[in-house]
Amino acid sequence: MLGGACQNDHKTFEEYYDLGGGVKIYSRKSWEARAPKQFQSFQKPASFFFIHHTDGSLCYEFHSCVTTLKEIQHFHMDTRGWDDIGYSFLVGQDGNIYEGRGWDHVGAHTLHYNTSGYAASFMGNFMTHPPNDASLTAVKKLIDYGISQGYIAATYKLYGHRDVGNTACPGDALYPIIQTWPHYTHTKPENSLLKLT
Ligand SMILES: [Zn+2]
Repeated sequence: MLGGACQNDHKTFEEYYDLGGGVKIYSRKSWEARAPKQFQSFQKPASFFFIHHTDGSLCYEFHSCVTTLKEIQHFHMDTRGWDDIGYSFLVGQDGNIYEGRGWDHVGAHTLHYNTSGYAASFMGNFMTHPPNDASLTAVKKLIDYGISQGYIAATYKLYGHRDVGNTACPGDALYPIIQTWPHYTHTKPENSLLKLT
């Protein structure tokens, strides 16, 4: 369902999909994302779902989350030279999901697994403090929705970024939380590239 929540804005600024329970997926249009330089179509369903943190600013309401999203997209596209913002989705401490590359495009988030998994990134640094319940609930709802729509395989495996890469991501305070979630998997995913080493 599309709707408008910020009625004082003259732009069509707040298009979203309502996941229910007060959780929305705000579209790229809603946060005025730049167009990707190019994209690769994602071949669903995803076998994996990865949890990240952005290691950047926290945001607690729509407009500051939009500012943060734009900064991340500029950084990924202009400094790192990527085609688009890296993550499939991002989540704010406002308890809403923001569309990154979305369901249809391959992301740039988890080396070796971008074509077989989606990623949601919690906006903020969660080394010492966990994200709030609203944002945790939002990501769980996103995953459930992805399964219901056939984007994510019902047998998917959930990982933190650090499970497959040399990184502290998604942070010491967030990592133990996702380990309690359904489908969290302690064994490393199979990866044909890694078998070569
Ligand atoms: Zn990460």
